[in-house]
Amino acid sequence: MYDIIVIGGGPAGLAASINGKNRNKSVLLCSNDYRDSYLYKAARIENYPGRPGISGKELLEELVNHAKKAEVEFLQEKAFAVISLDGQIYVSAGDKVENARRVILAIGMASPNKFPGEAPFLGRGVSYCATCDGMLYRNGKKVTVVGKAENSVEEANYLNEIGCQVTFVSDKPAFGLKEGIESVVAKRLEVMGKDAVTALKADDREIPSDGIFILRNSVAPSDLLPGLELDGGAITVNRRMETSVPGVYAAGDCTGRPLQISKSLGEGQSAALNAAESIDLEKKEGKSAR
Ligand SMILES: Cc1cc2nc3c(=O)[nH]c(=O)nc-3n(C[C@H](O)[C@H](O)[C@H](O)COP(=O)(O)OP(=O)(O)OC[C@H]3O[C@@H](n4cnc5c(N)ncnc54)[C@H](O)[C@@H]3O)c2cc1C
Repeated sequence: MYDIIVIGGGPAGLAASINGKNRNKSVLLCSNDYRDSYLYKAARIENYPGRPGISGKELLEELVNHAKKAEVEFLQEKAFAVISLDGQIYVSAGDKVENARRVILAIGMASPNKFPGEAPFLGRGVSYCATCDGMLYRNGKKVTVVGKAENSVEEANYLNEIGCQVTFVSDKPAFGLKEGIESVVAKRLEVMGKDAVTALKADDREIPSDGIFILRNSVAPSDLLPGLELDGGAITVNRRMETSVPGVYAAGDCTGRPLQISKSLGEGQSAALNAAESIDLEKKEGKSAR
């Protein structure tokens, strides 16, 4: 069990991880590739105190190197579920489940607009994780992959390998798909079905589907951790960066405006220091798990 699992490797998550280690806590940083951070796309940052003109890429690489030096453990995976159970918090990422005393959500501005029909059919044919649910559709079942994440082609190829009949839908042509996977370019998508999914409507075409894998880089906070209190899509936090779920903190763009680097770094630091303090207090009081 880790002391702290941080989800998201942008400025907020990296600051949280570094500060968690500074407080002598074991820290796992679970994130997509750090180049997915919004910061990586910023060509010139003028308002980062002390470093005017630095590029986002440069700043992010410095933060990653700092975290590596601090001996933060890295897990390059997308987290798709956080579950609080018996005083511990479990994080599912890729095909792994890790647990911790505290979790810090630093997932950036994660409020993906859902497709019509997506939410009602979640768990009834709609899935966000090929590794977790792919096996349900082997033996020739029809699956449609909606490719919005970097590794979507890889995941579609995996589903093809385990025996699914795969159609790949994206908003631009896809490359690297295995033979036998049909690629469809479409902009307007809708999940169709009755009791369970039957098809994906892609522009004017209906693609018959037993399962639809919608693969994005981010997972909406409410899907990641059901029951999390939100305010207009942003995660509600108090001054200690605690969310409505005990033991779970949040920091950075995911807590709302201003969407800025310095605010994200500060919130990440604050979340980690408060998480570390609460672990120390708990240990002092002799409570076991949280
Ligand atoms: C073009 C551009 C220019 C900008 N210029 C400036 C500027 O000049 N000054 C300024 O202050 N700010 C600027 N910003 C904003 C700044 O980049 C953000 O405020 C900052 O990056 C937020 O940091 P964060 O850590 O909260 O989120 P992010 O940087 O978005 O990082 C979140 C990370 O978490 C990962 N992630 C999300 N969900 C999951 C999951 N479920 N599992 C695993 N990993 C996950 C994401 O892939 C990403 O790597 C700019 C942004 C852009 C796009």
